[in-house]
Amino acid sequence: MTAPILRRLSELRAKHADWIQDGETVAVVPTMGALHAGHLSLVEAACAACDRVIVTIFVNPRQFNNAADLANYPRTEFEDAKKLSGLDVDVIYVPDGDQIYPVGYSSNVSVSGVADVLEGEFRPGHFDGVATVVAKLFLQTGAHQAFFGQKDFQQLMVVTRMARDLDIPIKVIGCPTVREVSGLAMSSRNLRLSAEGLDRAAKLYPIMQQVVARLAGGEGFAPLADEARSKLAAAGFNDIEYFDLRCAEQLQLLERPTRPARLLVAAWMDGIRLIDNIAVDVLTV
Ligand code: AMP
Repeated sequence: MTAPILRRLSELRAKHADWIQDGETVAVVPTMGALHAGHLSLVEAACAACDRVIVTIFVNPRQFNNAADLANYPRTEFEDAKKLSGLDVDVIYVPDGDQIYPVGYSSNVSVSGVADVLEGEFRPGHFDGVATVVAKLFLQTGAHQAFFGQKDFQQLMVVTRMARDLDIPIKVIGCPTVREVSGLAMSSRNLRLSAEGLDRAAKLYPIMQQVVARLAGGEGFAPLADEARSKLAAAGFNDIEYFDLRCAEQLQLLERPTRPARLLVAAWMDGIRLIDNIAVDVLTV
């Protein structure tokens, strides 16, 4: 059954009030639409965890630091609703712009620390936009649990920090990255790559896996990163913004995975910015 699309906060609040009165738990899955199997895996996890599930679709202008990226971002509401119809979703919340940023809107949620590096460095203002809209969606939906992808690992850390810092009573849950058969992490931005571009982009994941395997064998990160950057350039990535080994708690740079760590990458392919990350096992010797 297709879930109703609600565009006004008052409609969402009315549904929410009924659910809470009945003692039901509520999950939210925030998205920007152009849904793929990665998003749907979050929805499935939400359906398994809570009685009611709200999927939000809002292309948040405040988190785009590049006007062309915002203008080109795919908008596929009809197809998105169809994809969600196979799942047990209760409401698709597609707020009109003024429901998030009404005339006179003047507030900003800014997270420091984990938000300052990586994406924070290369996309100034991006995480202010993310933290602001996610704080609003948490408060508007009144959800008990929120589901995010580890695909955007730093974003997951930023929204977790934000909810904790602002005492928003919600549990933030990170779900594994869903990949194409080729290994390429699913992303709405992949829609903008040609078939040939997708093939070249798929070389990223095996290169990351090789680095992780050699870290496990005791090699230091710096020479591995140099080698990986050369391989990525040869594969057609023309701007590798970061290729970092960082601790998974505070995102500090590491040379060896002596504590839980993550390999995180941002690189451009054919004018499309792709990001990916994978877990790195702790080196015990
Ligand atoms: P987006 O619509 O790109 O803002 O993403 C909405 C949510 O889906 C975020 O929590 C993302 O981390 C998550 N997501 C995006 N791609 C994937 C993927 N390939 N696997 C799992 N989750 C994903």
